Amino acid sequence: MADCIFCKIVAGEIPADKVWEDDHVLAFRDIQPIAPTHVLVIPKVHVESFADVDEIRAPFLASLARAVREVAAAEGVDTTGYRLLANTGPDAGQEVMHLHVHLLGGRPLGPMLSMRGSGR
Ligand code: 5GP
Ligand code: ZN
Repeated sequence: MADCIFCKIVAGEIPADKVWEDDHVLAFRDIQPIAPTHVLVIPKVHVESFADVDEIRAPFLASLARAVREVAAAEGVDTTGYRLLANTGPDAGQEVMHLHVHLLGGRPLGPMLSMRGSGR
């Protein structure tokens, strides 16, 4: 997709600190890390979010799972634990409209959600 920053990273038009890739998936370090390990795992094909994953686009999901497994091991967080996060849509604050899973670890990550706000 022309104006998509993650498509440009896939195409090599914007540099990224790549840590894993296969034919379907690319993993690279977040430019503004919020944990010692903060890697983004994305499909190489442009998919906006999990809401757009159908049978045709689904084949990357196996690669995504493999990337998570192998990146977590390479980063040394497979035994200490990590969090996978996929912001989807406005309430989640999704900024980049190309599906990405944050892989966060390397320190205790605290509660799953911020306690600020109404909480329900
Ligand atoms: P979202 O809020 O959409 O779930 O997260 C988007 C993430 O992409 C943010 O954590 C942001 O730091 C990261 N990001 C945005 N632009 C770039 C970029 O050009 N390169 C890299 N490596 N990460 C980016
Ligand atoms: Zn894209």
